[in-house]
Amino acid sequence: MASCIDNAYRPLVAGLDVHDAYAGGDPNNTDKTTTAHIFLDTSGDNCYNKSGTEMRRICVDMDEVMADALGEHLLRYNKHFGEKITLKDLQGKWLWDVVSTDRHAVLDAYLRSEDFFEVLAVMPESQRVLHRLQMNYEVFIATAAMEVPTSFQAKYRWLAKHFPFIPASHIVYCGDKSILRADYLIDDNPRQLRRFKGEGILYNAPHNAGVKGYKRVNDWLEVEQLFLS
Ligand SMILES: [Mg+2]
Repeated sequence: MASCIDNAYRPLVAGLDVHDAYAGGDPNNTDKTTTAHIFLDTSGDNCYNKSGTEMRRICVDMDEVMADALGEHLLRYNKHFGEKITLKDLQGKWLWDVVSTDRHAVLDAYLRSEDFFEVLAVMPESQRVLHRLQMNYEVFIATAAMEVPTSFQAKYRWLAKHFPFIPASHIVYCGDKSILRADYLIDDNPRQLRRFKGEGILYNAPHNAGVKGYKRVNDWLEVEQLFLS
């Protein structure tokens, strides 16, 4: 297989040594052949790692999977209204379900504020595991950013800051994730998994507590175990 790579495979610029592309290297550098860790076959359809093993494609959601958006949302709400809603109060519910409708506009305004998506905490171990995943899978970040169109730039800055090894070409801003073509989608939202054509992996979150029918992962250590052990 290695000889196939030498002869017939060409480097996929977006998936090359990401440090070279995004952490101080020259993004215009076209001499990627020595640092590439993803290769395309001549059809352009299939990706392989350096040892010639075909790489399957994983899409990963951002909010509640990589980024603790709920934590920030709760923090702002509790501070603003002097409340003490906890994650335990949200089992099987969205924050919107426990907050009275007359306060929904404020909940919405937090999401639309300039800095909301930029200050989110990173889910523990997600950076290390995603970096490892990237060596063995073709990893795309797929966020339903269209739900909050004002979030585009803050989300991009957050990814660049915390996940500089993910190239911009592998970040997908979308709405309905059934448009994605991948083998796996890791997402906390069952609505997004329902119409996804590959295998949906449900990332545990308070709101999806009662959801059945998907493989569930509780944290990034379980993602690592599922895909890399
Ligand atoms: Mg999500």
